[in-house]
Parts: sequence; structure tokens; C-alpha cells
Amino acid sequence: MIFDPLYLVIILPGVLIGIWAQIKLSSAYGKYSQVPVESGMTGAAAAREILDQAGLTNVPVEEIPGRLSDHYDPTKRALFLSSDNFRGRPVAAVGVAAHESGHALQHQAAYGLFNVRMALVPVTQFASMAWMGLLLAGAFFHMFAQFLTIAIVIFTVMTIFQLVTLPVEYDASRRAKEQLFRLGLVHEQERAGVSKVLDAAALTYVAALVTSVLELVYFIMRAQGSRR
Ligand SMILES: [Zn+2]
Repeated sequence: MIFDPLYLVIILPGVLIGIWAQIKLSSAYGKYSQVPVESGMTGAAAAREILDQAGLTNVPVEEIPGRLSDHYDPTKRALFLSSDNFRGRPVAAVGVAAHESGHALQHQAAYGLFNVRMALVPVTQFASMAWMGLLLAGAFFHMFAQFLTIAIVIFTVMTIFQLVTLPVEYDASRRAKEQLFRLGLVHEQERAGVSKVLDAAALTYVAALVTSVLELVYFIMRAQGSRR
């Protein structure tokens, strides 16, 4: 679809970090999906406990289809866990469920960056739709000046979004681990497993940020080149 070799060369590090992150996540998640938590809790039960202890008894924990489709929806004020993590009792499931609960805790605490990220979601959705529209219209191949300006605006929006997302994700994992240990939902020897799964998941956000920055760099370079 994209024929400019310069584009491929520039975004390559982002793609490679992305592949590495996916491999690390698959291996960590795969490994700790086989290790049951001693407490015998399901992901859903762990999330329920963390939310209840924080006074978030009105935030429902629901099951959704898909693999690693887990998320907290701030507009619905509800937590959604994939079947594996909802019903499962391994370290990985409890870790992911706790991470999503961490987002609910951020929402409750009105954590600044969480609010910024939430406000940026519609803007980012519009930007990515506009980008898809441009690609479908074949604008990429022509590289006219206006296209480059629009591309720079779009990737600036994407980069800011990824830049805000990264600390929000790390903070959610930090809150998750804190609550898991404080409430005794995972034992001492299970901590490392939780950390490995959550750190690997965070790495996918690092990859998304790097890719976004590199795409922005590419379009800035093209815009400067076309002015010469
Ligand atoms: Zn998250």
C-alpha cells in the first residue's frame, strides 16, 4: 500500500519494538496464564474486591468476548474483562483485572492525565478516521502540500494522545499492584508474575508512542523536502 522506502526505513524501529512487545506480552501472558493464584480468585472477583474496597460498588464488572479485550469504560463507568480474565484464576488474569480496576481508581481520584486522555479520545478518533479517509482516497501517493500539512496535524494529535496514554497505563499498573498486595489478593511469590505481565503490556504502549513519533518525523521531513 505504501511505496515510499523512506517511510518504511523511518518507522522500522517502531515496528520492531511493536513486534518485540507483542512477543514479550504473549510469552509473559502465556506463562502466567498457567500459574494459578493461591487465593483461588478469578479476575472478576479480584476486580470486584479492589473496586468495593475503594467504595466503587456501583462500578459493574462485566464479561466481554475477545482475547485481551479488557478495558475500563469511563463513559459507562464500567469494567469489561475478556472471558479468560473474567473467569480464569491465574496470575495473569488477576493482574490484568487489577490493572483495569486501576483505571477506575484513576477516574475516581480525578487523576489529571486520565482526564486529559479521556478528553482526547474523541479528538483522536476523529483524527484516525480522517487519516483512514485520506488513505482510502489515495492521497498518500500524491503527497501534495495540503496532504502533508493534514498528515502532520493528525500525527501530532496521535503522538500527544500516546504521550498521555503511557503514564496513565504505568500509573494504572502501579495502583493495581499496590491494591493486589495491600488486600492480599496475590502472595509474595506471585508479585513478579503480575509485574512481568503488566510491564509487557505497557511495552505495547511504548511501541505505539515510538511509531507515532516516527510517523510524525517522516511527514515533517517530507514537508521540508517539498519546500526546497
Ligand atoms: Zn490500561
